[in-house]
Amino acid sequence: MSHEQIPTKSRVGIIGAGQLAMMMGEAAVLANVSTVVLATSLNDPAVATCDDVVLGDAKDLEALANLANLSDVVTFDHELVDLDQIADLERRGVVVRPSSSALLFAVDKAYQRQRFLEAGIPVPRFVVVEESVDTLLSPFLTTLDDEPVLKASRGGYDGRGVLFPVHRGETLAMIDQLAVAGPVLVEERLALQSEVAQLLARGSDGSVALYPLVTTTQSHGMCIEVVYPAHVTVEQAQRAEDLAEQIASLIDAVGILAIEFFLTSGDLVVNEVALRPHNSGHWTIEGAVTSQFTNHLLAVSGQALGDVSPLHDYAVMVNVVGAAEPGSLEHARALSDVAVHDYRKSWRPNRKLGHVTSVGDDATTVHVRAWEGARAYGTGTEEV
Ligand code: ADP
Repeated sequence: MSHEQIPTKSRVGIIGAGQLAMMMGEAAVLANVSTVVLATSLNDPAVATCDDVVLGDAKDLEALANLANLSDVVTFDHELVDLDQIADLERRGVVVRPSSSALLFAVDKAYQRQRFLEAGIPVPRFVVVEESVDTLLSPFLTTLDDEPVLKASRGGYDGRGVLFPVHRGETLAMIDQLAVAGPVLVEERLALQSEVAQLLARGSDGSVALYPLVTTTQSHGMCIEVVYPAHVTVEQAQRAEDLAEQIASLIDAVGILAIEFFLTSGDLVVNEVALRPHNSGHWTIEGAVTSQFTNHLLAVSGQALGDVSPLHDYAVMVNVVGAAEPGSLEHARALSDVAVHDYRKSWRPNRKLGHVTSVGDDATTVHVRAWEGARAYGTGTEEV
């Protein structure tokens, strides 16, 4: 009797247990992996979908070591980590994907801008300052038509840590306010035609699969809607793919890489990168052959990437951001032709509670259904 070879299932450790880890947990069976999450509480969204839980803080070295002990590879749900600690794990032989040096591009906006500038990748014009009296600041400000956009180089997300001063006095005061926490990225305020996001999966062997480009809409710094296909020309879509491939190899990303671009009257300009599944790719759960969550797990566990082709002509994803009054998950679920994803979080105004996706072959129907679902669920944002 021959022994059947039973393939060992990789155990993927995820730092963080938010909605991204929750949706990785849902995809784990498709990627033939198991997941263990580092959660701060048993109420965290991913606790319900993972195979195992380590309780602890993402910046606690002992908790990280406990997670690593239960994992074949460690990956991320968010980038609010201490990169020195992650590098320490790597030195101890823990396989971390993406690596700490790749993750630096997502953790530190000033580092990202500097490295991309050196590589000839288009970014907004910028300077990095430590305080408002920094000698670099005044010559830079005189080159601008408008007041700049100010960003904390580390620690911001969903528009937190991004400020839009309206006059010079406010610019200087806000720089000093942000500088308390670290260096401040001061950049030109661009006239945006729209914002688009390019998602790709990169395998541990450097293979790349590019999802189609999407248009994203933000309100108060938070993404509220993602539309596939993006409203761009063929040339712009090609440019996004070319830049994304260049960025993926520069960073040496493994897993999902999301690149947010500004579309201006001139070129595409890079805004942000994320080295994990991203809000702009949630539509791929229903809309693509292989979702971003499955592909992230396939990539970080060293397996071949899945097919990223879209399944329909159109897809719209709307984030459900808590309104003044809670809505009804049941009403949203009762609607036909919408997929409702509940992040298992308690309702709070302005909190991302879930998302709704509609896919199909008619652009208007898909858009209307996605917003109907999101309104029923109780989103507080205006339809776009
Ligand atoms: P976060 O890291 O919090 O997501 P972002 O850097 O993506 O912050 O900025 C949030 C939003 O602010 C962007 O999606 C865009 O709408 C706007 N924004 C950021 N930088 C600029 C800029 N240089 N010019 C014009 N708008 C900008």
